[in-house]
Amino acid sequence: MVDSINEFGEIIENFGGIIINNSYWDCECKDDYIHHVSEAVCNNCLSEQEDQPNSRENEIVLLKKRNNS
Ligand SMILES: [Zn+2]
Repeated sequence: MVDSINEFGEIIENFGGIIINNSYWDCECKDDYIHHVSEAVCNNCLSEQEDQPNSRENEIVLLKKRNNS
């Protein structure tokens, strides 16, 4: 496990080639399932951050690109 920092200053970890971003987590929704860690619960599916995995960095990068365009 290797910790590093991405271009947004967020901590990312490499788990056997899968890059995980510790600043985000995935809920159970089919779409828009990435939440920032400042959100404890998804208001849509009611998943709680502490029960859910952190998000993949590549999906976060895609999300940020979409939001900026
Ligand atoms: Zn959800």
